Amino acid sequence: MKSADEGCGIELTKDLSQIEGLSTADAAVELCGGVFSDRDGVMNEGINVDGPANFRLLRGVKEAFEKLKAAGKKYGVITNQGGLGEDIDGKIAWPSHPLTREALAAIHAEMKKQLGPKAQPDVIKFCPHLTKAKCKCRKPQPAMLLEAAAEMNVDPRKSYMIGDRVTDIECGINAGAVGIFVLTGHDSENERKLLPDGTLVFPSVVEAIDWILEQPA
Ligand SMILES: [Mg+2]
Ligand SMILES: [Zn+2]
Repeated sequence: MKSADEGCGIELTKDLSQIEGLSTADAAVELCGGVFSDRDGVMNEGINVDGPANFRLLRGVKEAFEKLKAAGKKYGVITNQGGLGEDIDGKIAWPSHPLTREALAAIHAEMKKQLGPKAQPDVIKFCPHLTKAKCKCRKPQPAMLLEAAAEMNVDPRKSYMIGDRVTDIECGINAGAVGIFVLTGHDSENERKLLPDGTLVFPSVVEAIDWILEQPA
């Protein structure tokens, strides 16, 4: 089986990056693309996830990400968690915020458990900020995706961002990736009307991943 580190120059990049003054661009190392996925409404039932007890992966998600990883692709979870209610300085700006950092950590532990050992995400990024914090990480801004891509050593311009909201698609486009919309979100029919022209649409992440794996690497 082909691993993610074969044929993408990943090991080579690591070595070259240690050489002073030589950037990855100078070395012209080709990186592979990866996959980025929103969490709520894409991987799990998206409503009121405030603790591990109400986190449930959608049907087929575990198997779909197992297939993706078995094909040697890396993936990252990119999620806005404004329920944490934080301002840009990390202080709580929403007194009745429905989510705590501890609960979020427990939810992500539960997510990893339900995904199982063969479908683990390579990176999980969350934005804890309220919209009014005007941070650089909250989708549709691309910062979380770009940071995750750097950590995963993948090229965002060869990557895909799967989401159930227009802001997910815009985040992907803003990072140079291809946005893929799925219809498993709770407001997907309304969101769908606002999509940029030409956005790919699939019933769920299962079909989206099948399609990604058919594309030339
Ligand atoms: Mg979502
Ligand atoms: Zn943020």
